[in-house]
Amino acid sequence: MSESEKHQFQAEIQQLLDIVIHSLYTDKEIFIRELISNATDACEKFRFLQSSGKEVVGSDIEPKIAIATDDTAKTITITDTGVGMTREELVENLGTIAHSGSKAFLKQLSEQKDQPNANLIGQFGVGFYSAFMVAQEVQVLTRSYLPDQPGHSWTSTGQGSYEIDTAPDWNRGTRILIKLKDDEGQFAQASHVESIIKRYSNFVPFPIELNGEVTNKVSAIWARSKNEIKDEEYKEFYQFIGHDHEDPVGRLHFSADAPLAIQALLFVPSKNIENMGLGRSDSEVNLYCRKVLIEPKAKKLFPDWLRFLKGVVDSEDLPLNISRESMQDSSLMQKLNKVITTRFLKYLGELSKKDVEQFNRIYDEYQRFLKEGVISDFTHREALGKLLRFETSSLDKGERTSLSDYVQRMGEDQKEIYYVFSPSRETAEASPYFEVFRSKGMEVLFVYDPWDEMVMENLHQFEEKTLTAAERADLKIESPSDEPALTNEETEDLSQWIKASLGDQIESVTGSERLVDSPAVVVDADKTMTSNMRRLMKAMNQDSGPDKFELEINPRHSVIKRLHATRATNEDLARSVAAQLFDNARMAAGVVEDPRELVTRLNSLLETVLEEKKG
Ligand code: ADP
Ligand code: MG
Repeated sequence: MSESEKHQFQAEIQQLLDIVIHSLYTDKEIFIRELISNATDACEKFRFLQSSGKEVVGSDIEPKIAIATDDTAKTITITDTGVGMTREELVENLGTIAHSGSKAFLKQLSEQKDQPNANLIGQFGVGFYSAFMVAQEVQVLTRSYLPDQPGHSWTSTGQGSYEIDTAPDWNRGTRILIKLKDDEGQFAQASHVESIIKRYSNFVPFPIELNGEVTNKVSAIWARSKNEIKDEEYKEFYQFIGHDHEDPVGRLHFSADAPLAIQALLFVPSKNIENMGLGRSDSEVNLYCRKVLIEPKAKKLFPDWLRFLKGVVDSEDLPLNISRESMQDSSLMQKLNKVITTRFLKYLGELSKKDVEQFNRIYDEYQRFLKEGVISDFTHREALGKLLRFETSSLDKGERTSLSDYVQRMGEDQKEIYYVFSPSRETAEASPYFEVFRSKGMEVLFVYDPWDEMVMENLHQFEEKTLTAAERADLKIESPSDEPALTNEETEDLSQWIKASLGDQIESVTGSERLVDSPAVVVDADKTMTSNMRRLMKAMNQDSGPDKFELEINPRHSVIKRLHATRATNEDLARSVAAQLFDNARMAAGVVEDPRELVTRLNSLLETVLEEKKG
């Protein structure tokens, strides 16, 4: 057996080391994560070999990881009782680039000089070298699990060469001793190292001791089978990762093999912090690869509208694929995103059938997010549409229907799904737009959330039925009452007169066939708009174009009939009444901004009424 030997690093390794040492300024702490990951891999390999009945050195030594810090000597040591390495493996694994991903990594790094991302390092199979970000010298002591293999040491300062020697008294596994650079002393401080272990490696499935004490006490329950996990364990885990002392209102634990290997455990917190006025929430779903943190609060893992979720997504495919593809190509993240988003929506859909109460609790808290999704996310729009719930004229106040159920109840000749936007149930039922539906016994959704109008616009169709604002519905009342009405000619005549006296604010005046109890109703003259939408746009200070309305009058209504008569006797009064009718209709539509003129006119009308009573 040869003794001490000096080796040159393969040219690419040296190039890599130069970049690692000189360019990766931020996040140096990830070297601890990388070395723990390697130790974990080694332990896992050992466990596998042992369980498959192979002859191994030190079969009684359990796989584990021990970290020791020495603040005086400025060292940190990471020891594992995993598979270890033979002399050949040392040369091959730590002296050459064997991984296909590593070249891509090199290219990536050299193209990102100004903002290099240390986080990438572990994803390209070059994690070991991250130790040189903080090390003056790295010494590896290792002994393979294979019988008859002596222990070896590997030492390097990261400059040009490394040295290999035999190390006779070594057991099984690997110890990595790092002599820290002068200004990296913090990595020899136990408390600092402990916080790093907790951040990245808390769920590693082997005990990690720090200076003799086990630090990782929370197990990676997402990787276990659902049936074995108790509710209590889920709760504890949630409280730990969610920093929330309340229980979550929703939980999805699932695993998939295709198209990607995924294990995910997602929670819906009981409180929507955006409702509490605490600003925009940030997704708190962490991305893991085989129980090791890859990206905390992973940015592209979910669409924005799912930013309320907390939990863990673990995918084995992640680093491998990323190293094969170029990093710019985030198609893998997109795939992951689509799979888990679809799965989460499916969960909500199932919950809405299985446990309505729980679904409603989630819906009440997070409906705005789902609606945001309908508005902004074409991919999942249809699935989201199925989750929407609204009050409706055919159910009692407080009860909600899905669009599917509405469609189920639709009469055969009904082609569209209708909705009335209104601030409350009471105003919706009193709305002139609702009259025709009531008279025909047709169902209308009552929507109260100012966002709903946009939601309906964007969703546009559901199960091939167009969503139509009641205001825009092309419907006539069945049989107008027996009350004598104005004739068509009289109506036409009165309409022209109203149009002339109200002038510019009105696009047209016509006789209405959908009104029962109201004398008049307005419809926005812009067909792409509804009165509520105009109100919304104004509230958001957006230009919605000049207000223009079509006024529909009810020729069966006594006010309209009398107005027609009053024109001949007192045109001034008739003009005032016409203006008031128009304002009343706009009020019913919720689009009166400045009531001053209306109130002044109304007062003078009252005066006239009282005057007449007196006389
Ligand atoms: P990766 O872990 O992605 O393969 P690294 O640069 O982190 O890349 O490690 C290179 C290789 O060195 C590993 O694949 C493994 O074969 C070997 N190795 C590193 N650390 C250990 C260890 N603690 N025990 C056994 N083998 C190790
Ligand atoms: Mg590694």
